[in-house]
Amino acid sequence: MGRRGRRKARVAGITALVPPELIYAAGWRPLDINNWIPGSDARPRSKLCAWTASWREAILGGELKLDALVVVAGGDCHNALADGQVAARNVGRTHYFFYPFDGDAGYMEGQLRALEGFLGEGLRGERAHDRAMRALEEVAAAKRLGLRLEALRSAGRADPGSTFDALISFSDLEGDPARFGGKVERLIDASRDFRGTEGPGVALIGVPPIYRDFHRACAEAGLRVVFDELPYEFLRLGGHDLRSLARSYSTYTFARPVEFRLGLLKRELSRRKVRGIIHYAQFTCHHLLEDGLLREELDLPMLTVQGDLPGRTPAQVRLRLEAFGELLGAGKGAI
Ligand code: SF4
Repeated sequence: MGRRGRRKARVAGITALVPPELIYAAGWRPLDINNWIPGSDARPRSKLCAWTASWREAILGGELKLDALVVVAGGDCHNALADGQVAARNVGRTHYFFYPFDGDAGYMEGQLRALEGFLGEGLRGERAHDRAMRALEEVAAAKRLGLRLEALRSAGRADPGSTFDALISFSDLEGDPARFGGKVERLIDASRDFRGTEGPGVALIGVPPIYRDFHRACAEAGLRVVFDELPYEFLRLGGHDLRSLARSYSTYTFARPVEFRLGLLKRELSRRKVRGIIHYAQFTCHHLLEDGLLREELDLPMLTVQGDLPGRTPAQVRLRLEAFGELLGAGKGAI
């Protein structure tokens, strides 16, 4: 379960985005405890959201072993806070991390210092300094490659499915930023042989689909995904010291008021000439409540898909994707 890097560093599980730069700089290895779920057949016994319930049960059952757990307690998800507190009973050390709703970079810097203190070593201190600087540069280099791959995919010159799989892993860089950077570089090289994709360009917004083959299902429906909202957040945020990390991560749109998120969405959707939007929402996730507002503000045809348990994209969702593809071919309307 999960992804294993070559280093023997201690593993800090993260429930949502926590700056991986800082965790690597402190000599730990971040593990996004969500990333194994789409590839699994997890069926949590007691749940609201299948994401948080799956990792909660895996931690309590001992299948997911962590040296520490960092719960994003002030961000975009109260289910994670509740399930994180329960899961914490089977992890030696737990830290609660808060994003500033108002984007206050000073507050964000205080949170990064608190996380640094929890991990024991951070960007300060002579002994740790060289390692921290190396880690920061490795993550930054991987993210530069990720942005190149993302741009190729948006231009229709890289496969949307394998690009998504790589981009979603930027939350933890698969436990080894240098090795992960190499993997992204190979995807960029492979894109030279990519024959291109057809169909109207669509944006996938909202939380990531829990279906492992969702991008393939979109492609089969004639839809060309040119923007993945949350992975783009993982990629675009970064920094080379506490202050720049704080400035950057205080703009994490999922932890800010929805108007702030809409600003970034409007910019990116226009830049990529998106023709339609797929809004993925998870069963019982409060983000579904934003659907009406997103429809009002983003003046494009929108298909809302709600998923629950991990697995392959269900037949009825595929049918709706196909109908949406046909609709976009006609050029107007909404489902
Ligand atoms: S899908 Fe919604 S409820 Fe579930 S973990 Fe993500 S933000 Fe939280």
